[in-house]
Amino acid sequence: MNPTSAAVAPISNIHSYHSHIYFNDAAQRERAAILRDQVAERFTVQLGRWRETPVGPHTSPMYQIAFDIALFPALVPWLMLNRQDLAVLVHPNTDNPRRDHATHALWMGQVLPLHTAMLSESITDDPLRPIEPNTTPGIAA
Ligand code: ZN
Repeated sequence: MNPTSAAVAPISNIHSYHSHIYFNDAAQRERAAILRDQVAERFTVQLGRWRETPVGPHTSPMYQIAFDIALFPALVPWLMLNRQDLAVLVHPNTDNPRRDHATHALWMGQVLPLHTAMLSESITDDPLRPIEPNTTPGIAA
C-alpha cells in the first residue's frame, strides 16, 4: 500500500451526523426556536435539548440535531436555505470525535471557536449513541 492511499478515508467511516444550531442573544434564540420547529415538522431527526450555556467543545448556546447519513442530502441543503442567519455546524460522527469537529467540520455562516482539544481521538472512550428520532414530521421538505 502506498502512503497516499493509506491517507484516504472512506465515507463508510461516517456513522451519522450532527448539526449544531447556535444562538447568542434573545433574537437569535427566537429564530433558533422557529428553525427547530421547522426541522421537526419536516425531518425525522433526534432533536437535542436546549443548551442555554456553552457545553462540551461548544462556546455558544446551541441545540443539536442528530441525523442518519441517509438524511444528509435533504437536511443539509434545507438548512443552507433556511438557517435563519444563524451559525450552523454540521459534523460527521466517525471514530474520532476530535477530528470530526476540528477537521471535518462544515460551517454555515459564522465559524465559531470550538474547544476541540477536550475531545477524544478515539471512539472507545466516547461511544457513539444510536440516533433515536424524536420528531414527527408532517410537512414535505
Ligand atoms: Zn455534535
